[in-house]
Amino acid sequence: MTTHYDYDLIAVGGGSGGIATANRAGSYGAKCLVIESDAVLGGTCVNRGCVPKKVMWYGGAMAHALRDAQGYGFDVTVNGFDWTALVEKRQQYISNINNSYAKYLGQNNVETLSGRARLVDSHTVEVDGKHYSAERIVLAPGGYARVPDIPGKELGVTSDGFFEFTHQPARVLVLGAGYIAVELAGMMQAMGSSVTLAIRHDAFLREFDLMLQEKLMEEMLSEGLVVKTHFTAASLARVNDAINATGEDGEVLEGFDAVIFAVGRSPSTDDLGLDRAGVTMDSKGYIPVDKYQETNVPGVFAIGDVTGQAELTPVAIAAGRRLADRLYDNQEGRHLDYSLIPTVVFSHPPMATVGLTEAQARKQYGDAVKVYESSFTAMYNSFTPHKTKTAMKLIVTGAEEKVIGIHMIGLAADEMLQGFAVAMRMGATKRDLDDTVAIHPTSSEELVTLR
Ligand SMILES: Cc1cc2nc3c(=O)[nH]c(=O)nc-3n(C[C@H](O)[C@H](O)[C@H](O)COP(=O)(O)OP(=O)(O)OC[C@H]3O[C@@H](n4cnc5c(N)ncnc54)[C@H](O)[C@@H]3O)c2cc1C
Repeated sequence: MTTHYDYDLIAVGGGSGGIATANRAGSYGAKCLVIESDAVLGGTCVNRGCVPKKVMWYGGAMAHALRDAQGYGFDVTVNGFDWTALVEKRQQYISNINNSYAKYLGQNNVETLSGRARLVDSHTVEVDGKHYSAERIVLAPGGYARVPDIPGKELGVTSDGFFEFTHQPARVLVLGAGYIAVELAGMMQAMGSSVTLAIRHDAFLREFDLMLQEKLMEEMLSEGLVVKTHFTAASLARVNDAINATGEDGEVLEGFDAVIFAVGRSPSTDDLGLDRAGVTMDSKGYIPVDKYQETNVPGVFAIGDVTGQAELTPVAIAAGRRLADRLYDNQEGRHLDYSLIPTVVFSHPPMATVGLTEAQARKQYGDAVKVYESSFTAMYNSFTPHKTKTAMKLIVTGAEEKVIGIHMIGLAADEMLQGFAVAMRMGATKRDLDDTVAIHPTSSEELVTLR
């Protein structure tokens, strides 16, 4: 295609966004290079995010299944849980994914380069003193977990450190109220650690529908997890064999083997050389883009977490693939629509959400909003000693009752939402759900039989 540049496209970052863009562009014949500073490909999701997290979540779910088994007549004695063995298998699984990425990139003739890239200008990047040029550059460097600047911060770890635990900590303090905090706290409690989750306000996941916040709080408390509200850590200190955390109000939470900061993430733009190419950032370091993922500099694009929009793997992948479709397959106008992105929190039990929360819906549509709700014990839990609740909320608006929000928590909620999200994208109304014959006996049938 291009003659006077080394490449048609260079992707900075070999994570979800960079790999997806280069693979798709390469499949259309573009000459692409992916530059990755980590030793392995795959980025956050594969190496220290979604993938290892879901493995550990399954570990927690397995512990619950073993507990539940007696409700179905099984006389189960659990003799132990080998965290180290699970972590070893998990890392092997991840290593297989790393290798498969290299294979797929090769199949699409995408070249890879190991090293840290910095922009030199809008068509050139520098890696270890060597320059590489391209007609187009895609910035997909992702982000990193923040650590609060408090005395003793080195005693804590972030989610990255959690994935490096080769032994299970017995007593854990998780600081944070976002989905990563809730997930890590839940899975460790399920696998047998004694967990305290400390949050700054009186609720976690505050951007989620209130029903989900409240139900998950009930479930986590019923699992024995301690939720410490109104706690902001001011310092950490080692006392004998344990770590203590002192709050801003002087309260001390004592006796932890591990402290995990899950207090938010920042974009990896500090050392990207953006100024040299004239690419602007916002006040938090994110790179603003238009609907075609293009930065303020023509030919320089940004994808994924670094843009600060819906920081999820499938979002980075979808944005990258659509960009490549448009640039290298003449799919004019193709871009990612960032509305109605479904997402799951891998808590115990999982929760799933798409569209507006009830509060957002009422703010936007006022009295035109109608809410259908259901809370019940799923058949599975009718037999188990621990009664996990399932709850669902359907939010509709207008005379035609167009579905504008779906929220659910309970067993299998993580697997239930995807299909309903398709229906919502297609403009489904309550009537469409009512007219869909239920699948019985399931929990999902509740969503098509709400009254
Ligand atoms: C604990 C955790 C759990 C998560 N769970 C989920 C989940 O369940 N579902 C979900 O959808 N999302 C989840 N996410 C979010 C998901 O991981 C990110 O949204 C996704 O990885 C973003 O992809 P990306 O391409 O923007 O960045 P990344 O995947 O972070 O990739 C960026 C890559 O760029 C590299 N890089 C950075 N700077 C440079 C440079 N200058 N030169 C070369 N390389 C560079 C980095 O090393 C990295 O490999 C989770 C995240 C975390 C932290």
